[in-house]
Amino acid sequence: MNKHVKALITHPHFLRLSEVLAPAELRLVGGCVRDAVLGLTSADMDMATPLRPEQVMGVLTHSHIVAKPTGIDFGTVTAILEGKPYEITTLRRDMECDGRHVKVTYSESWEEDAARRDFTLNAMSLDKEGNITDYYGGQQDAQAGIIRFVGKAEERIREDYLRVLRYFRFYGRYGKVLPDAETLAACAAAAPHMGRLSGERVQKEMLKILGTRDPSAVLKLMQDCGVLAVMVPSLQPNAAKIAAEKIAREKHYEPFVDCDSNTLSLRRLSYLLYQSVLSLDPISTRWKLSRAQQKTLQLFCSQPLSFKTLARKEGKDKAWNALLVQATNVELKEAKKWLPDFNPPAFPVSGSEVPHLTGKALGDWLKAAENKWEESDYVLTKDELLKKEFL
Ligand code: ATP
Ligand code: MG
Repeated sequence: MNKHVKALITHPHFLRLSEVLAPAELRLVGGCVRDAVLGLTSADMDMATPLRPEQVMGVLTHSHIVAKPTGIDFGTVTAILEGKPYEITTLRRDMECDGRHVKVTYSESWEEDAARRDFTLNAMSLDKEGNITDYYGGQQDAQAGIIRFVGKAEERIREDYLRVLRYFRFYGRYGKVLPDAETLAACAAAAPHMGRLSGERVQKEMLKILGTRDPSAVLKLMQDCGVLAVMVPSLQPNAAKIAAEKIAREKHYEPFVDCDSNTLSLRRLSYLLYQSVLSLDPISTRWKLSRAQQKTLQLFCSQPLSFKTLARKEGKDKAWNALLVQATNVELKEAKKWLPDFNPPAFPVSGSEVPHLTGKALGDWLKAAENKWEESDYVLTKDELLKKEFL
């Protein structure tokens, strides 16, 4: 047993939940088992049990553990221990349906629950004694870096077209062996049907794909099998190649750009989209992007008056991000010289200091004055600016 597996089964929250749900069994499932087998630590610990969701709710509440019916229709209850959420899902047998909604039937069988999972490396379970149940050779596949559907790729994709995106996501993260032709053909055949996937699900998987360390190879595969164009409206021509070039130069600028994973993913999305005339409405609608995400994307994709102005108004991080999206290699290299020490003064004139103007005229004056000040490299003083006629 490796130390990651040991850490999972001795985790006090898992032990506590096992104890209160006993005599029903509780096992760790999915991503955390896969990651432990690979010697990695997972952010989440998902669990499964044959107990029905109402019973899980009842037992937890009775034991004074906060329990929320977060996905009760799919059999998922979230237990909260010391502020940390744990999803506990009742064993299920998924019924096939229209490729979008999955009808759920509960089960008592760990084998049936494994069979409904997407890939062999995601279909293992781990009990509290440290036994890994692995019906499909998931351990071997995880170690070899093979992303293999549980069952026939084509059938499993037809049950839920999102699995195509999940395939590419896990391939990007764990894949070490080139995808096999049959799986790629199944993904290509699915592409025309993927337009019906819900925006929330698409956004979640796509941002995760874009947020991996280097998604270049996966983007190329997705482009070649026609999935990328269906998932990313307004994709620029040759997007995967351009994105790969921009991803390759990121490593030279890492010390300057401090960004969270959402920002990183949106920057990579910008690589796929950026072109001179670009409307962000189609992608915002398709991926159901939040206001904040739309604003970030807008900043990264619209050409600023100058990168200096952008750095001054939106901060250096935003400027670095926009540079990585829009700038030529020469401009980027140049930015290394000026941007790190760039410390612009605040614009010296406020509206109340221009008493003879109001409303739109005042706004226009201030904008023109700010541009002049910018052009002077912030040398013009308040008095000099106030003396100038801009209108
Ligand atoms: P991550 O570390 O990125 O969270 P994960 O494997 O935990 O990876 P989740 O999306 O959290 O991925 O899903 C948890 C588990 O549920 C998966 O490991 C898989 O067994 C199963 N699963 C999730 N979505 C699907 C799906 N669309 N079809 C089949 N099984 C799925
Ligand atoms: Mg997970």
